[in-house]
Amino acid sequence: MKLSFHGADRAVTGSCHLIECAGRRVLIDCGLYQGSRELAEENAEPFGFDPADVDCVLLTHAHLDHCGRLPLLVKRGFRGEIITTAASRELARLVLLDAAHLQEEEAQHRSRKAARRGNRHGGGPLYSVLDALNTFDSFGRNAVYGKPIEIATGLRATFLDAGHILGSASVFLELEEAGRRCSVLFSGDLGNAGRPLLRDPVTPPASDVVVMETTYGNRLHKPLPPSVDELYEAVTDSFKRGGNVIIPTFALERAQELLYYLREGIEQGRLTRSLQVFLDSPMAISATEIFERHPECYEPKTAELFREGRDPFHLPGLHFVRETAESIALNSIRGGAVIMAGSGMCTGGRVRHHLKHNLWRDDATIVFVGFAANGTLARQIVDGAKAVTIFGEQIPVRARIYTINGFSAHADQAELLAWHKQTHTSRTFLVHGEEATMREFAARLAGTQVEMPAVGQAFEL
Ligand SMILES: [Zn+2]
Repeated sequence: MKLSFHGADRAVTGSCHLIECAGRRVLIDCGLYQGSRELAEENAEPFGFDPADVDCVLLTHAHLDHCGRLPLLVKRGFRGEIITTAASRELARLVLLDAAHLQEEEAQHRSRKAARRGNRHGGGPLYSVLDALNTFDSFGRNAVYGKPIEIATGLRATFLDAGHILGSASVFLELEEAGRRCSVLFSGDLGNAGRPLLRDPVTPPASDVVVMETTYGNRLHKPLPPSVDELYEAVTDSFKRGGNVIIPTFALERAQELLYYLREGIEQGRLTRSLQVFLDSPMAISATEIFERHPECYEPKTAELFREGRDPFHLPGLHFVRETAESIALNSIRGGAVIMAGSGMCTGGRVRHHLKHNLWRDDATIVFVGFAANGTLARQIVDGAKAVTIFGEQIPVRARIYTINGFSAHADQAELLAWHKQTHTSRTFLVHGEEATMREFAARLAGTQVEMPAVGQAFEL
């Protein structure tokens, strides 16, 4: 039995881990590296194993940093089965088509640039929309939380609710080879307990080996209620000053959670009923529709709202903005609007246009509600940059900046430690975290051997 690491090693993106047991190869996630240009280039590197030899991929959830290299895996010869939950399958479809479309656009942009310099090739896309479509043929059985799936003799997988985004799971693997047994638990991304839409992560089973994320391994989140207060204050204050509120938003989960809270705010009289909210992200709109199709994943109180026929995401002044022309029209709104657009880390997408038009205005407010990786535009603004470059233009930062971290979809240090303790494991591999964070987290783990694997490193189990 062997465990090797092929992404999100001493880094937050590119999750990809390989289990070899009883002559089979099972991949847990196949995510994209994101954040900086150097990281983006790593995506095109060889995987460190032959995709044609992989029998199965177990996908923990549909975030791009966990599923984003699947089309590349298929393009390079993978012919096995991809197993995930029904909700993750629908979300992954959305996420991968969007990613493939972006890859194609960026490749076209590069080749136009290369042509201007007299070069014939700017390099093709990492994968195309066609590759993404091919990938969907590999999606096989749907995993149901808590129900074991036989992958092969000596290899059984159980998906456990991780409470991170819709359909997200930890994966518990029971391995057997030549009479030896070993259980390996992959945390996937773990959710932050007590949020309104999803259930809390389930109590993990006792496991011999644990591979766990450490995104917030060195931080405690602010509690949720003051974060909701801060959101309402940011909106109310910005409207008083006459400006707009821009919220760079992750399309999955965060966008729906914010809609949920804005609706609650209006219903409780804490926000004005005349609030105009623009969800300026075709992907977030589609994701909201997928959410509406999977109430089985919900926390009981929200599931109840649905049963009563009430939509937890609907508010009176909500506008879904799919068309580019409508998105551009938002640039002329001077105040009184909440604009939610992707990408969450401002590395791409429509939010950059809204930042360009609002960041320099002292009546505007920018609200960050998610993780901002090193090297991203979001991180520069969060870190207090006086000016930033957007589309080649220097834009001074005069808007009021809020960083509200209580909405995190990730468990914080205390939650991660509590989760780990329940696994009673004696061997822990830390992944999916920045190295300094990981070290701080490792120092707090007791009674377990801790490894922080490097890319390509392999371990006998
Ligand atoms: Zn995630």
